[in-house]
Amino acid sequence: MDYFTKYDDYLKFLDQDKYKNYFDALNLYYLDDPRQICPVCNKIGIVKSKDAEGNLTMKCVHDCGWNMVIKSPEYINVYHVRKNKIGELNELLYQLTDTTEFNKIKNQYLNTKHDLDEIDEIFEQQQNEKKKLIDEKFETFSQLVELFYQRKKLFNEIKNPIPNVTKLKLIDIFKNEKGTLSDTRIKSIAKDYDLNYDDLINWFAWLKTSKAYIDVKTELDKVSKELENDKKQLEDINLNLLIIDPVIIEKKDVKRKVKEAEIPKKISPKKLPIKKIVVKKSPVKKPLVKKVVKKPIPTSGQKKIKVKKLR
Ligand SMILES: [Zn+2]
Repeated sequence: MDYFTKYDDYLKFLDQDKYKNYFDALNLYYLDDPRQICPVCNKIGIVKSKDAEGNLTMKCVHDCGWNMVIKSPEYINVYHVRKNKIGELNELLYQLTDTTEFNKIKNQYLNTKHDLDEIDEIFEQQQNEKKKLIDEKFETFSQLVELFYQRKKLFNEIKNPIPNVTKLKLIDIFKNEKGTLSDTRIKSIAKDYDLNYDDLINWFAWLKTSKAYIDVKTELDKVSKELENDKKQLEDINLNLLIIDPVIIEKKDVKRKVKEAEIPKKISPKKLPIKKIVVKKSPVKKPLVKKVVKKPIPTSGQKKIKVKKLR
């Protein structure tokens, strides 16, 4: 299987409304209303059922013939699949000594090898993506360390103590003048507050470095958080990679009015386009949760998924 293509497609579709029909159909299925009417004959009475594979069926009890089948999507755990493929590969390698079946086994071996390569490509791309953020984090951290020592050095160069009351006034001046003070201005402040000129130069430089330190620290926190989110998101995808899309088969093509329904949380359409991907296999087995879905899939204004940007 072309796992990498599946992965790539999955990322592409995360912020599109590809699954709108699916979620509309789920809305219809999970609508808990005994007075639910058939979208074709408009009479009350829809029978719902679920088979062992988790496929959902809805049927009109009247003779209009309307029915709908929702075939569940399929997800794989990429880690498990990889582990199994490695096992298969070793087994096939061992079997290759059986010369009568050589060509057959050889083809199986090549196919399995292909699958493994595809999966490794997914991991490679994810590593590259994470590496960018790791490098950025390291660079920001280095800046922070540099500023830390710079600040310490400036502080040590202040020879005479500055009274706390004066310090507060100096901070106000620094803020009001946006940290840009000319030598003449500093000279005049030194005179006003009876301070040593060099001390004051160092004191303002210390304030400036402290501000830069805080800014870089904020940036570092941001990058760290982004990296964590990315790791988490990629991990979620690896645990639940969609390999077979859901399919909706409707016997009569009619315009259905989609009402609000309680959809199990795990297949809530809101879960798809946002950062956290928690779509699980056979979600319909899970108990219903109180979640009213107003819009099946938001098509605009939603958060862009991070991985897409880095593609
Ligand atoms: Zn009907």
